[in-house]
Amino acid sequence: MFVQVFSKKMKHERDMETKEISINGLLNGSSIRLSEMTAEEIGDEHASTSVDTPMRADAFAMNDEEKMKKISFHFREIMETLGLDLTDDSLKGTPDRVAKMYVQEIFSGLNPAAKPKVALFDNKYKYNQMLVEKNISFYSNCEHHFVPIYGKAHVAYISSGTVIGLSKLNRIVNYFAKRPQVQERLTMQIAQELQRILGTEDVAVIIDARHLCVSSRGIKDESSSTVTSFYGGKFSSDSKKEEMMKYVGM
Ligand SMILES: [Zn+2]
Repeated sequence: MFVQVFSKKMKHERDMETKEISINGLLNGSSIRLSEMTAEEIGDEHASTSVDTPMRADAFAMNDEEKMKKISFHFREIMETLGLDLTDDSLKGTPDRVAKMYVQEIFSGLNPAAKPKVALFDNKYKYNQMLVEKNISFYSNCEHHFVPIYGKAHVAYISSGTVIGLSKLNRIVNYFAKRPQVQERLTMQIAQELQRILGTEDVAVIIDARHLCVSSRGIKDESSSTVTSFYGGKFSSDSKKEEMMKYVGM
C-alpha cells in the first residue's frame, strides 16, 4: 500500500523551496518527524500525519446547531479583529453564512452520518475487466490553510463478484472531499473505503488537483497541479496501471 506524489512544479520552482520533506519518509518514520518541527519549520509543506482524519473523541458532543452558533461567534471575532465593520449590511450576515457553510456543506464529510449508503449488485454479466469512473469533479479544502483544493478524481476497480452504482463512486469521492484535507489522505481514504465496500484489493485512485494555497498565495504558482495515486491489488502491475492511465488520458 503506497501513495505516489508527483508535483508538476518546474525544477527551478522546487529549488526555491528551502525545506524538502519526504512524505513517505514521514509516514514510515525514517525521516525527520513532523511532531519535532515547529509550525514555522513546517511552513507551507503539506505533510499529512495519518490516513484517518485527526478527530477528537468528543467531535460530535455538540449538535450541528450548537456548532454553527459557536463558529458564527468566533468567525465574527476574526472579522472584527481584522477591523471589519459588522454593522455593514453586506458583512453582517457573513458569520452565520460561513458557519452554515462549514457545518452543512464544505465540512459535512467529517460526520460519519453523512457517509453515502451504498447498495451493491451482483456482477451478473461476469464483467471481469477494470471499470474506470473518470473526471469526478470535487472541491475540498486544504487543512493547513483552509482554502480550496479542487480537481478531478479518477477511480477504478475490478469486480470481485459485486458491482456498485456509478453515482456512488462520485458520492464517496465527495464525502471524503468535504473535510479539511491533504491530497494524499483524500486519495487513501477513497481507496480504502472502496476496498472495504467492494471486498477487493483491486482498486485504483488517481487525483489531479489544484491547491489555492499554492496558486493564490505563498509561492503563487498558477500552473502547477498535484497528482496522487493509489494502486491496490491487480492495479500494482505495470500493464493495469498503463491501461488505467490510458483511459484517464494521463
Ligand atoms: Zn495549504
